[in-house]
Amino acid sequence: MDHHGVTLEGLYQARRRLAGETVRTPLIRSAALSARFDAEILLKLETHQPTGAFKLRGATNMIAALIERHGREALAAGVVTASTGNHGRAVAYAASRLGLPAVICLSRLVPPDKVAAIEALGAEVRRVGASQDEAFEEVERLVRERGMTLIPPFDDPLVAAGQGTVGLELMEDAPDLDRVIVGLSGGGLLGGIGAAIKAIRPACLVTGVSLSQGAAMWASLQAGRPVAVGEVESLGDSLGGGIGADNRCTLALVREVMDDHLQVSERAIASAMVALLEHEKVLVEGAAAVGLAALEAHALEHPTLDVRGQRVALILSGNAVSLATLDRARALAGR
Ligand SMILES: *Cc1c(COP(=O)(O)O)cnc(C)c1O
Repeated sequence: MDHHGVTLEGLYQARRRLAGETVRTPLIRSAALSARFDAEILLKLETHQPTGAFKLRGATNMIAALIERHGREALAAGVVTASTGNHGRAVAYAASRLGLPAVICLSRLVPPDKVAAIEALGAEVRRVGASQDEAFEEVERLVRERGMTLIPPFDDPLVAAGQGTVGLELMEDAPDLDRVIVGLSGGGLLGGIGAAIKAIRPACLVTGVSLSQGAAMWASLQAGRPVAVGEVESLGDSLGGGIGADNRCTLALVREVMDDHLQVSERAIASAMVALLEHEKVLVEGAAAVGLAALEAHALEHPTLDVRGQRVALILSGNAVSLATLDRARALAGR
């Protein structure tokens, strides 16, 4: 089966490349959540990755695959991307592990602590312009003029296959899984996991969760083509951003593998973040709490998401959250 370039063989190759570079993360059962939702609730702890998020899988797979295919010399100019968040850290870390130079382009508005965090992972940070778009123009220039290789955050079969190794691990650790609930932005994570699951256990449902505002994938799926939406500040900031006007992989992939799609409010995200910390002792960022937020908002009274009796995995995708943001979440959740 070929899901827009993501094949089962590609997923197993990704898994081989990731061995020793990324963590095979634990899947733990939550007794409290299982009782609360009358289901078997399992938590996939991508927060255990060395960079704190699953994005290390996709970046590592793509860089390692390019080295395999073209040789190290062909990539000597290094890899480049523009991301302040989990993807920037992932590319910096993966490149340094695999012995290639990396440049991360950031706008001048990015706060110094985020710049320092990426530099600490061994990448060169290049600060240009006053927006993410201008930072991306610098990426394109480095690709054109210096022969660097772009590592995109989601829209590539190698990146999606890397993220999809989460799905392979789920199928091994919970072979009778009924549903996986995944945060959805550009669709590399959901698309990759979905490709793995639909190849191995098609009966397992794939539920995507988007922000209620600023969700480009939601609007694009409805329009049937990539749609740009305004960015909105959110506790789930890792789910913000567009899907790319020339999206070639993940929009079609998500449409094919996703069974249902929900949105969650800021308050629901806040409440889920606090609950995961308080009861499960897991610190997650907002984007990683949307699965529990969706259960709390849609699976209790008059459920539109009925998980009763099901075995359900929630992907706790990352932990990039500051104490200030955690305070904001607590204030919004009222706890
Ligand atoms: C990037 C990211 C997501 C969404 O992944 P996509 O592949 O863009 O859909 C979810 N959670 C976290 C923590 C992320 O960094």
